Amino acid sequence: MDLLDTALSQYVEQHTEPETGLLKNINRDTHAEVMMPRMLSGHLQGRVLSMLSHMIRPKYILEIGTYTGYSALCLSEGLTTGGELITLDINEELEDRVRRYFQEAGAADRIHYIIGNAIDIIPTLEHTFDLVFIDADKINYSNYFDAVIDKVRGGGYIIADNVLWSGKVLDETPDKDTKAILDFNQKVHNDERVQNVLLPVRDGLMVLRKL
Ligand code: SAH
Ligand code: CA
Repeated sequence: MDLLDTALSQYVEQHTEPETGLLKNINRDTHAEVMMPRMLSGHLQGRVLSMLSHMIRPKYILEIGTYTGYSALCLSEGLTTGGELITLDINEELEDRVRRYFQEAGAADRIHYIIGNAIDIIPTLEHTFDLVFIDADKINYSNYFDAVIDKVRGGGYIIADNVLWSGKVLDETPDKDTKAILDFNQKVHNDERVQNVLLPVRDGLMVLRKL
């Protein structure tokens, strides 16, 4: 589902800073060589994540769901000097590729890439995060929120991707993943610890500010 028609989408991308050469290559190679390339954030969303990160100027970022590293690199652009992004993914098959991309970007010292189940790893992290990006399995979105909320500083942000789930949030008989997204959206909407705005960017970004 596209929220904008193709011509308008093109116009938006043409008037958004282009991807760097490396991000363009990751985008292209992911589409050519990796399963489910649609999961990659892509040009517009990548630039939105970079811009938001620059606005926040985080010292510590947590990303849940690395995939091929595209969004991690975009988010890392806004880190303060000495800042660090921790990114988690359960899929070890992509590890060599992703480490190569982080090296090529000269970001391997800023990005801490951990392979494993995010549900197990998050409780072991002792950082206080300025920004968390939730983008792994949709079934666990509410669990990820619960696991990170006390690790985010007051005034920090949580951003969750795909909260429109290709428009399926309006389905009359939602499937399991859609139900999980619906539950997450309602849960954070009702949670008085966060201010929430659902940005209709690409597949929907839920932006939460911890009060
Ligand atoms: N953030 C990436 C896309 C992430 S795709 C981008 O925007 O470019 C979702 C990723 O979540 C997949 O790579 C998948 O392996 C990972 N994932 C799924 N379940 C997970 C879990 N329980 N723990 C950690 N990662 C998980
Ligand atoms: Ca996503």
